Amino acid sequence: MNQPVRTPAVAIIGAGPSGLRAAADLAATLKGDVLVLDREAEPGGIPRHCYHPGYGIRDLHRFISGPRYAGILVDRATKAGADIVTRAMVTGWTPGGALQVTTPQGRFQVQAKATILATGARERPRTARRIPGDRPAGVYTTGELQNLVHLHHQKVGTRAVVVGAELVSWSAALTLRHAGCKTVLMTTEYPSPDVYRLFSAFGGPFFRTRVATTTRVRRVIGRGRVQGVEIENLATGNREVVPCDTVVFTGAWIPDHELARSGGVAIDPHTLGPTVDTALRTARDGIFAIGNLVHPVDTADGAALDGAHVAPHVLQYLDGRQPATAGIDLAPGQGFKWVAPTRFRPGDTGPARGVLLLWPDQLRNRPTVVARQDGREIGRVSTWWPAAPGRVYRIPYGLLNGAKASAGTVTVSLQS
Ligand SMILES: Cc1cc2nc3c(=O)[nH]c(=O)nc-3n(C[C@H](O)[C@H](O)[C@H](O)COP(=O)(O)OP(=O)(O)OC[C@H]3O[C@@H](n4cnc5c(N)ncnc54)[C@H](O)[C@@H]3O)c2cc1C
Repeated sequence: MNQPVRTPAVAIIGAGPSGLRAAADLAATLKGDVLVLDREAEPGGIPRHCYHPGYGIRDLHRFISGPRYAGILVDRATKAGADIVTRAMVTGWTPGGALQVTTPQGRFQVQAKATILATGARERPRTARRIPGDRPAGVYTTGELQNLVHLHHQKVGTRAVVVGAELVSWSAALTLRHAGCKTVLMTTEYPSPDVYRLFSAFGGPFFRTRVATTTRVRRVIGRGRVQGVEIENLATGNREVVPCDTVVFTGAWIPDHELARSGGVAIDPHTLGPTVDTALRTARDGIFAIGNLVHPVDTADGAALDGAHVAPHVLQYLDGRQPATAGIDLAPGQGFKWVAPTRFRPGDTGPARGVLLLWPDQLRNRPTVVARQDGREIGRVSTWWPAAPGRVYRIPYGLLNGAKASAGTVTVSLQS
């Protein structure tokens, strides 16, 4: 049976902060439709279920809760004229390159002139972390926990172990507290908590929580419902069983990249999201990628500012303007798990906010970062802000000023 085909100028997949901001900026200037598709019943992405404040700092210059932030972005995109369709899951691509969309009312296709992928990132669940033991109820990721508590108003247990000590882990502890569940332990494999000192200094006493560093969960215990977890101190090998009825796996992000992969969009081996240049163009013509899909993960304001950054480049693409050269690949070296964007061109636009985003895998309080190309140092920068596992580290794009178009991949490393 022939399916209906919609033909907007721009299709945006994902109505989170990045997709909504791109929609608002494009709909305000573009002659032609901007269509936003989201699989959820309500637009807004992750902030819809993050009830604590901490949203909107860099983009809206406010300090507000997730639902309020999401509401403002939805409002702005709608007022600018974007068409936001919810319960619309983009399941794949037709051989001709159209998007295949499934909704409760039926299926349709979208043949857009330009497409923006804004599908976000998710936390790896217990199965993906290969944690042995029983398979009881009461095991969540932060996203699942917040959905359950804030959107469906369900109860969780009374004693929780939070696996991870990143920013998102404290967000999980707040949600547990809201649900009447005490966080008895947070664990991290790193030798110090992964977040700002302020969080660990005040967070521990506030939640009356122990943070166990250099520690790994070895086993989940419980038939029917969680009864405890076995943890191991990685330095001493000592093991301990911590009684609990709830376990929350936090962080360990992976981009929601399946749609991009199925569309033949090249994937970076480090971020596991699409490769993108400084204008957030993927390697596939007419397809852009923004937000946590390309940097898993930055804060919501960072994702939204990607949306603002990509909009003029989408307009340029629709005007037929494209970069002339392939560009230079960017790769993480020692001390970093990934760098974004993953490609740049001397003389092209700078990246969103004029910064490179990196994910450190070790703590440095006064880090020095070195860029090398073809074995030669081309730039170096020291920052007064730390590089810490569990959160994005930002450095000025000027680090790459000395790169040569013909000299191959640039590697960015923490100086040892
Ligand atoms: C627990 C938690 C607490 C946080 N706290 C803060 C905070 O205090 N401050 C802050 O700034 N940031 C915070 N963040 C981070 C912030 O929420 C994210 O950075 C932000 O939501 C990323 O926006 P995004 O647009 O990239 O993706 P998302 O918000 O993840 O949105 C992606 C959207 O794409 C949709 N989608 C995916 N695939 C498809 C598909 N195939 N078809 C249709 N739709 C699809 C999803 O339904 C979703 O709505 C927190 C994150 C978490 C998990």
